[in-house]
Amino acid sequence: MSRPRTGRAFVAPTVGLALMLPLVLAVAAAGVIACGGEAADDGRLQVVASTAFLADMARNVAGERAAVTSLIPSGTDPHVFQPTPSHLRETARADLVVLNGAGLESQLADMLREARGDAPVIEAAAGLEPRTPRPGEPAHEGESGGDDHAEDGEVDPHFWLDPTLAVSYVTTMRDALIEIDPAGADEYRRNAEAYVGELHELDRWIAAQIATIAPDDRQLVMNHVSHGYYADRYGLRIVGAVIPGVSSGETPSARDLAELVATVRATGVKAIFVDIGEDPGLGRQIAGETGIEVVDDLRVHSLSEPGGGAATYIEMLRHDTQRIVEALR
Ligand SMILES: [Zn+2]
Repeated sequence: MSRPRTGRAFVAPTVGLALMLPLVLAVAAAGVIACGGEAADDGRLQVVASTAFLADMARNVAGERAAVTSLIPSGTDPHVFQPTPSHLRETARADLVVLNGAGLESQLADMLREARGDAPVIEAAAGLEPRTPRPGEPAHEGESGGDDHAEDGEVDPHFWLDPTLAVSYVTTMRDALIEIDPAGADEYRRNAEAYVGELHELDRWIAAQIATIAPDDRQLVMNHVSHGYYADRYGLRIVGAVIPGVSSGETPSARDLAELVATVRATGVKAIFVDIGEDPGLGRQIAGETGIEVVDDLRVHSLSEPGGGAATYIEMLRHDTQRIVEALR
């Protein structure tokens, strides 16, 4: 089986995992032996995605031709997700592994790279141009304690929060599926085209929703700087962040927090937005000091259970947009 063209080099920053390497290799070997168990017997391709929203996108492209599962449990923050041996066994059995990439699932990406299983691994964000923070946005230049990513310039991995960039995820997945399953090419192309149509419709809907917020109130304080691409697309300003970085796995300093309180007062921003997988404690503390609202159920990286209002990628962006509009209007 040849590797898909789209399986470009990993760009995730390396975290020291040398200690885990022997374990990973042993696990990968065990995974090969265990091959042919569970879900793999229905003749369909087995696709494993890191997050549920990537799995949902892949399902939309693959249709009936693949069984798609995801690794990171609902409500778990992918920035700090630590894979277990069973997660690696699941990827060892897969025909295709889909990551977001750009440093989102840094520990999982490193372990997969070290394990060097047979399955092609693609990064859905491959080829997208990372944004640079706008003037006035919270900077992350190594002031926060224990931050070992800042020196090498952190890439913002949250491309998917702009549905027009998610279109690129879909075409990357489509091309990878065609590469490993050429017999399904027509179906993958049809499915992808229909789904891209839905993404463009979602984009128009979000723009119309944001347009209902008064221009002066189109500003955000995030728990971590997750909404850069979203803000760029829909004309919002990110004026502050509890964690002044693009990963929630960092820790703000006392000075960062004092500056944020001053920023909230100076800008008149109306709310702080926290992902459901993050600790809302510091955000609540800032809100308590400044009297603004905390919205702590954004779905930035993970879907809800079915029927929970954010069970698909499209529902997730609609949910978040509704929460943002309710708080800022
Ligand atoms: Zn994030």
